[in-house]
Amino acid sequence: MPFRDVLGQPHAIETLRRGLSRGKLHHALLFAGPPGVGKELAAFAVAQAIVCTVAPGEGCGECAACHRALPADGIPLHPDVVLVARGLYGRDVLGRSTEEKTDISVDQIRRVVLDKINLTPHEAPQRIVIVRAADELSAGAANALLKTLEEPPAHTRFILLSARPGELLPTIRSRTQLIRFAALTDELVEKILVGRGVEPEKAKRIAPLAAGSASIGMTLADPQSADARLHAVEALRAAATGPLPQALEATSAYANTGEARAELREHLAAFVAEEAGEVRSLVLAQAEAGGGNDRDIDRALARRDIAVALVESLEKNANVPLALEASWLHLRRR
Ligand SMILES: [Zn+2]
Repeated sequence: MPFRDVLGQPHAIETLRRGLSRGKLHHALLFAGPPGVGKELAAFAVAQAIVCTVAPGEGCGECAACHRALPADGIPLHPDVVLVARGLYGRDVLGRSTEEKTDISVDQIRRVVLDKINLTPHEAPQRIVIVRAADELSAGAANALLKTLEEPPAHTRFILLSARPGELLPTIRSRTQLIRFAALTDELVEKILVGRGVEPEKAKRIAPLAAGSASIGMTLADPQSADARLHAVEALRAAATGPLPQALEATSAYANTGEARAELREHLAAFVAEEAGEVRSLVLAQAEAGGGNDRDIDRALARRDIAVALVESLEKNANVPLALEASWLHLRRR
């Protein structure tokens, strides 16, 4: 996945390419932007540019080093490309008695990053450490990493990825160079969906609902649960707009299980898309009428934002009924 395959992020890619070609890439980068817009693809493109044996500084995407730089079964095989992510490594690797459930533990930073960081890279001129969802670093993990960012070891580069950069420690943020990733255009989401095997007609219909995210688009394109999803979106909409007791009752069906969490996450992705569509049509109607009701737009935006926040808290394994309850309360306070 070299740079040419990262679509719709010309500014970010230009900054990275320029830094690499001049040998001036900051040692710690923070890729910030919504989910599903190419942050991780770009991070692995940087990894390939660093380890590639055919086109160093650019990455050919074809050589053995480029292939091994990408995650296979979750973890890159190249010894100089290190991926940090919650739940990626087993208890034995991390030396823990329990699985990592809610955050990236300090054990992972110690075992996967700090234990290796002072050794010279195995094959490539530099080592690269990619932290997926860096806002999930536990306080201990963030502090352990911070020490390393403050006194960066030679030969090591860091890329932190986050859809919620505001939740990172300010001290970590200040040690990194921010690279922003924007939401994708509808046309590009459509193109990406078609490239991943979605029928063109369907991709055209779904793309405007995907809120600029290829991953939300793929979730919406999944035919397996279209009916259930439609039903759930109606129920969620009713819960978000109706009286609180009914909202709580409507969502009491979601138990606190991994399955319910996955199902709810999918339904929420559809809900976010619906609200984004609603905002868009309200704005268009307002433009046509030459003035109109900002409150309706604000409300639809609030519902969308809260659903996005809810998806994120579910990804952190929050308790499902409690997370829903908190969201409905939050909406009513606005
Ligand atoms: Zn290569």
